[in-house]
Amino acid sequence: MQGEANELKLRVKNRNTIPTQCDVVVIGGGPAGSSVATALAQAGFDVVLFEKERFPRPQVGESIIPHMWRYTDMLGVSDAIRAEGFLAKAGGIIVWDDIIHQMRFSSFGYNDPDRVGLHVERDIFYNLLLQFYVACGANVFEEVAVGKVDFTDNQWPKVDYVDRRGGGFQRGAIACRYVVDGSGHAAVIARQLNARKLVSEEVNYLGIWGYYKNSYFVGVDQRAHPPEDAYAVKPVTFVTSFEDGWIWHIILRESTSVGLVINRGQIKGMGREAQEQYLRESVAKVPILQDLLAPATFIEGSMCFRPDYSYYSQTIVGDNFYCIGDAGAFVDPIFSQGVVAAFYNAATVAWAIKASFENESRRTRYSQLAERQMLQYYGFSRLLALGDFGGEGVDPHLVKSMMRAFPRNELELAMAASMTTNRSHYLQRMIREAGLFDYSGEDFAQGKLEVLTGVTF
Ligand SMILES: Cc1cc2nc3c(=O)[nH]c(=O)nc-3n(C[C@H](O)[C@H](O)[C@H](O)COP(=O)(O)OP(=O)(O)OC[C@H]3O[C@@H](n4cnc5c(N)ncnc54)[C@H](O)[C@@H]3O)c2cc1C
Repeated sequence: MQGEANELKLRVKNRNTIPTQCDVVVIGGGPAGSSVATALAQAGFDVVLFEKERFPRPQVGESIIPHMWRYTDMLGVSDAIRAEGFLAKAGGIIVWDDIIHQMRFSSFGYNDPDRVGLHVERDIFYNLLLQFYVACGANVFEEVAVGKVDFTDNQWPKVDYVDRRGGGFQRGAIACRYVVDGSGHAAVIARQLNARKLVSEEVNYLGIWGYYKNSYFVGVDQRAHPPEDAYAVKPVTFVTSFEDGWIWHIILRESTSVGLVINRGQIKGMGREAQEQYLRESVAKVPILQDLLAPATFIEGSMCFRPDYSYYSQTIVGDNFYCIGDAGAFVDPIFSQGVVAAFYNAATVAWAIKASFENESRRTRYSQLAERQMLQYYGFSRLLALGDFGGEGVDPHLVKSMMRAFPRNELELAMAASMTTNRSHYLQRMIREAGLFDYSGEDFAQGKLEVLTGVTF
């Protein structure tokens, strides 16, 4: 049934010829780029989106938190996502230094069966979003890679691209009023400006992952289940610390994603074969995980890795550009915030660009406001996900003011997440300093977090 439910009627404006001028150019068709393009196309702007790959194509990061629906509702894509039939995710079970915590989204008011967390195949999810955006009137050009942006003309920046459609190689340029960089890890503009910075040179993580067939999964009932039960018992995302870092286990409809986040020194100098061996041996040693994977087989050739975790750009907005999603900053994905952060950034920047077109004289003010919003969110995510070093470069006032604006349940969920590992001391301190919780950590944990003795097999 995968994919069949989503027969979207495409209202394609002009898919063959790349224009020489438009209102907004968006770089990248991930969740950040495609949602800003949709929001602007829906508002009537002439948007051109360049995506260097042809979709669908594999992408890691399969756990989606229920906050997503707020943004997909605004764009109107929620029904198409639901119709795809992705697996639901009921929360997380986290083993950290031998303590096992369970967080259920339902304990934080996320009870609407239409708005659950999800485990998604990212290639299908991305393609679904991109096709929806095409249907909304955005001009999407796949297999067109942006090289650089020429900002010489302050009113009309020029975006240089290489068009590789149909196996060709054609250089071109398009002028626009605004450029939104949603190019993810490639961070086209940040690299061009030499503004991309690692959060810490010493603690530089990387991700290494692969896919298994027939793994058991952990259900919300704290039991292990065979994969065919994944619609009958809601899965949780299973996370465990281990001697070199942490590991995720995310069941999907036809496979299970298992990955390590480790300091890059751990696999320095290893070739691909040795890396794969390290991945497989590491997961096979970890309690619970080894039992979940006992009946499973590794899908040959599925190993991938991503260096340079936890970086940010020192410049995320300019007179006529914005860097959003991973193109602006990337945070260790332990609490699955990346996709929602991308949606959040996209909504913020779509608002700023619309407002700037409507009132040109205030465009600097709008871009400053958007920058502040994005920095707030980024600072918050970083303090939640990283250890002590995560505070470097984060403005605590911005983070506190954002947390004050959070709905109560969202703040409680963040607080609960912060108590499942030993990484979020800064955030907890800030929550206390902001006077947001009158709590003693243990009381709070007893109400909202369960401590388990194990998973039943
Ligand atoms: C190992 C790992 C695990 C993760 N797990 C999770 C998770 O479980 N949950 C979660 O929410 N997040 C997770 N994330 C984070 C999440 O994947 C990202 O935060 C999210 O994808 C950001 O979306 P984006 O649109 O900014 O970038 P991307 O999704 O990376 O999209 C960028 C797009 O830009 C395109 N592009 C790049 N360069 C160019 C160019 N020059 N011209 C045109 N197009 C270009 C790329 O092809 C790509 O399609 C994880 C990340 C990693 C690395």
